[in-house]
Amino acid sequence: MARVVNTSLLQKIKKHGAGRKLDISACFNCGNCTAVCPLAEDSGGFPRRVIRMAQVGMEQDLLASEELWRCYACGECTQTCPRQADPAAFMAAARSYAIARYDFTGLAALANRSVLGNLFVFGLFSAIFSALLLTRMNAGGPDLPLFHFLPGEWIHNIGVVLFSVVGLSAASGIASMVWRFWRKRVREGDALSIAAIPGAVYSALSDALTHRRFGQCDADATTQELAAQPWHQRPWLVHASVMGGFLAMLLATTLDFMFKPIGSVVQPWYLTRILGAVGGLVCLYGLSIVLLRRAQGKEHPYKKSSFADWFFPVLLTATVLTGLFCEVIVYLPSPATLGHDIFFAHVVLAMDLVAMLPLTKFAHVLYRTLALALFAWRNAPAKAAASVGAEA
Ligand code: SF4
Ligand code: SF4
Repeated sequence: MARVVNTSLLQKIKKHGAGRKLDISACFNCGNCTAVCPLAEDSGGFPRRVIRMAQVGMEQDLLASEELWRCYACGECTQTCPRQADPAAFMAAARSYAIARYDFTGLAALANRSVLGNLFVFGLFSAIFSALLLTRMNAGGPDLPLFHFLPGEWIHNIGVVLFSVVGLSAASGIASMVWRFWRKRVREGDALSIAAIPGAVYSALSDALTHRRFGQCDADATTQELAAQPWHQRPWLVHASVMGGFLAMLLATTLDFMFKPIGSVVQPWYLTRILGAVGGLVCLYGLSIVLLRRAQGKEHPYKKSSFADWFFPVLLTATVLTGLFCEVIVYLPSPATLGHDIFFAHVVLAMDLVAMLPLTKFAHVLYRTLALALFAWRNAPAKAAASVGAEA
């Protein structure tokens, strides 16, 4: 079957390099990156095959490739590339390009292509949420409890609409990725077993929650700088801290939305309060190491940080810090003006974070998990009777 070639694909992906000099056209397909990548053994030409797709303009294949998301950005390949083509940065830029293409609103393309675009989208969301909160804000003096200053019910209502819109946006991105994957598999005559889907989903979720593959990157580390790191600063633990802490906070917030009376103040030992506080501290631990390493810029993959690399951890850190502050101040008899200001900032930042989930680098939480499921599905033994390939 004929394939459509996009001759400007490489240039478009380079624009998603977020200011980094991305010289992937220097790649002469030697395969060093595949040889050194700790995650390549079960996938043949990964990451070289994805690079090749970009070089020859196979856009649909690239966007349908779950391999894009299986890379954990460890940077090992970049260190051994004889052409200094920086394959790790290319993979990051290609993922950013894919996020923009999966999103139908155009906001992801705007946010991912430039620093100004990223700031514009962030500023736009911040302005919308601030304006919405200001419409119900009570100016009753510094003694006003936080959830009277900003009525809990109003925050709840904005949250419901926000989660619904973001859920729809994320679902459309996921559908776009699955549709491309499906078409490619059918076009290539692969047999996909319907019966293998539950196993693939289970495998992806357990991989995503345990970061098993990330641990594989750590275990197979060939660079001295990585091998010399103490266990509590190894990339696997740092990433798991950020991710696990964030998920704990998200779970605590969701449970509060569902079960806690709106705007009520509960005791410090209330389950979701403990879950949120512990999650926040764990997340903060991981974030502090990430930010420190980016600031030092001494080791891979932190040597060359783009604006997008900084934006997400800084936004998350600001959200967690203001959230932890509010956790304490909510029990004080008088929150004072500073408390009100920080509470306002926290609510806006938390809403920004949720709104930007499907649009920015943050979306890897969704797409990587989905890619792991698609990869496990593709590699599951075909069950001929129920296979799509047999019917096609
Ligand atoms: S190691 Fe460098 S030159 Fe060789 S295939 Fe990978 S990116 Fe291309
Ligand atoms: S950054 Fe790491 S995981 Fe990604 S392709 Fe390179 S070596 Fe493999």
